Amino acid sequence: MSNILEGNGSPSFSSISHASYRGRLAPSPTGLLHLGHARTFWVAAQRAIANQGTLIFRNEDLDPQRSRPKFVHAMIEDLRWLGIDWSEGPDCGGAYGPYSQSQRRTHYLEAWHRLRKGGFIYPCICSRKDLGQAVSAPNDTDDEPIYPGTCRERKDTTEFLEPAGVNWRFRVPDGEVVEFTDFNLGLRRYVAGTGQEGVGQGKDFGDFLVWRRDDVPAYQLAVAVDDAAMRITEVVRGADLLKSTARQLLLLRALEYGAPDYFHCELVRDSSGARLAKRHDALSIRHLREGGMTAKDVLKMAGWP
Ligand SMILES: [Zn+2]
Repeated sequence: MSNILEGNGSPSFSSISHASYRGRLAPSPTGLLHLGHARTFWVAAQRAIANQGTLIFRNEDLDPQRSRPKFVHAMIEDLRWLGIDWSEGPDCGGAYGPYSQSQRRTHYLEAWHRLRKGGFIYPCICSRKDLGQAVSAPNDTDDEPIYPGTCRERKDTTEFLEPAGVNWRFRVPDGEVVEFTDFNLGLRRYVAGTGQEGVGQGKDFGDFLVWRRDDVPAYQLAVAVDDAAMRITEVVRGADLLKSTARQLLLLRALEYGAPDYFHCELVRDSSGARLAKRHDALSIRHLREGGMTAKDVLKMAGWP
């Protein structure tokens, strides 16, 4: 494991034992899976096979506004059709379930309590409007805007026994360089910090959300907690999540969990060069399949040789 940390003498990220490979597929049921997913999940499946490992399917259905049960069924059906096999998941059970994030709240709540007790997180009362005025617009990756740090010195959290009602942010070590070696893309380096001076100059990400004011655990927290709890040894996912990896490494360290290895896949783009999104219905696995394509055709179209 080669996740290392530079500067201010901080400890390295600890790695987990890699005795047996455990990989995961972790789609969100917010739309139909498209060619980009087909490619990433195919790579994940191949890596699990090559390592004689176990593949886990995790249904990332945390967001009650955007998740739909019909898309859970579609994801499972489309990936099975593509020839991808997993042995733990919402459809087949397993030792580390439940495998739907909407059923794992107790795990996230436990992590929230530990992070709060350790002083790693703080309540943020900034409104969306406050943040809109203070920060730049996010680009087209997984970015959330770099938080200006308005509430980060708010250390007294004794009034909060539960996370609901306010946003909770992880206080990133300002200026810390998070480095890790991606198994596909090589050495990656991201600078954590606040956007106080200017708009986060030289910083790649800031104090990120771990719990939303509408009482939904944030993506970063849920993924870090689940990867640890499900004993994932390698995370294979799209390159749009590289910065999220840096955030999750900080969370895993704060929670005293080992970090998995990472393998980020290049993104599949449409003919105009834009990265695929779930709105690209014509390039969904479902529609290509209904149009008469075979699984092999679809994988080829996704760039698999
Ligand atoms: Zn705030």
